[in-house]
Amino acid sequence: RSAELLARQERRESSARTYPRHLPIALADGAGSFVRDVDGNVFIDFLAGAGVLSLGHSHPELVRVVARQLDLLAHGLDFPTPAKDEFTEAQLSMLAPELRERMKLHFCGPTGANAVEAAVKLCKTATGRGDIVSFQGAFHGSTHAAMALSGLVSPKEPVRNGMPGVHFFPYSYCSRCPVGLTPDSCATNCATYLEHALNDGNGGIPLPAAVIIELVQGEGGTIPARTDFVRRVRDLTRALGIPLIADEVQTGCGRTGTWFAFEQYGIEPDVIVASKALSGIGLPVALILYDAALDVWSPGAHIGTFRGNQLAFAAGVEAIRIMRRDDVLGNVRRRGEQLADRLAELTADPWVRDVRGRGLMWGVELADPDDGTPATGIASAVQAHALRHGLIVERGGRDDAVVRLLPPLNVTPDVVDTACSILVDAVSACSP
Ligand code: PMP
Repeated sequence: RSAELLARQERRESSARTYPRHLPIALADGAGSFVRDVDGNVFIDFLAGAGVLSLGHSHPELVRVVARQLDLLAHGLDFPTPAKDEFTEAQLSMLAPELRERMKLHFCGPTGANAVEAAVKLCKTATGRGDIVSFQGAFHGSTHAAMALSGLVSPKEPVRNGMPGVHFFPYSYCSRCPVGLTPDSCATNCATYLEHALNDGNGGIPLPAAVIIELVQGEGGTIPARTDFVRRVRDLTRALGIPLIADEVQTGCGRTGTWFAFEQYGIEPDVIVASKALSGIGLPVALILYDAALDVWSPGAHIGTFRGNQLAFAAGVEAIRIMRRDDVLGNVRRRGEQLADRLAELTADPWVRDVRGRGLMWGVELADPDDGTPATGIASAVQAHALRHGLIVERGGRDDAVVRLLPPLNVTPDVVDTACSILVDAVSACSP
């Protein structure tokens, strides 16, 4: 039945599909950390809707709240409603008190890319500047500006006309340092390079409208930024009056063990972008939180029909309540440590170049031990082997050679243990 639905999809939908190419199943239903395909096979879901399902599939308490809200009001444009008011309060309550005082919130539409576009437009309007600085390997979405800010070149090539100006700088990707340094021998040269380019009137770059950063690059291969790198980028942008945008679409809402990842870096961004897990159950909603000093927008400056998803608001409030009640952030940290311990076994395999992550966002990078070339074929075989043995994982990174783990944040120890066993077996079965 999966094969039949995949074939029908192949015939009728565009070839821009992604996930089913690597994970050839048709989904029927899900519960918690498990999903079932239409043939009745049950999988541990460590993709979790691309990091969206923070409380797993169809969490019963969220389902109840959504059903109740559906009965009351489903869509509210940008009118104030009790559900929206509570959601806004709940979101602001997750910020530290002084930051909360300074921040305003704007609803941006359903997707992460919508919110990235809003962040960029806001910073351009507030600074009167044009270009943006982004980092190599970044992913910020597939709309025009968001794609321009993303590293991968091939999808940009055919639509390059009229794209916003973006300057790319190296990210602190230490296991593949472009100049061959090791974390010990390096004094965050990547930040030095950016600093130099921004200050050099003789061939540097014009002051940008913003610098946008993922604290942990997600699609780029689960790469946590070095703390000293991030702090230097923050100091530099502050000194030069450049707004810093933290794209927390993937890292936000608890994924890395704190509500936002920037908290772990001891910095405060000027704009925070959030979307994926805001509702906890996969209902689309996106927003930016931004320093009120940037609030130069006039009415109608950034609008959209789908900015009033009451179901997502109601679910999001309940998701935060559940996360507090069940100490889900504590679970993220504990299960993260468990994952780190179990995945450490993998480093004995010469084809495993790096195992890295934060909270419940982990990546296993595969590369040829002789020359370091990304082992895309092996990563693909590992993914397929894991699927056959009941575990869904995604791949990412510059060459799709990083196996990526994004379990629900309330995943239990036994599920983590089983998933790790499947993955460890898959790597030892597939590495040469
Ligand atoms: N930013 C980041 C960091 C992301 O990981 C993603 C999605 N993977 C996006 C933006 C885009 O979000 P969406 O797919 O909802 O447009």
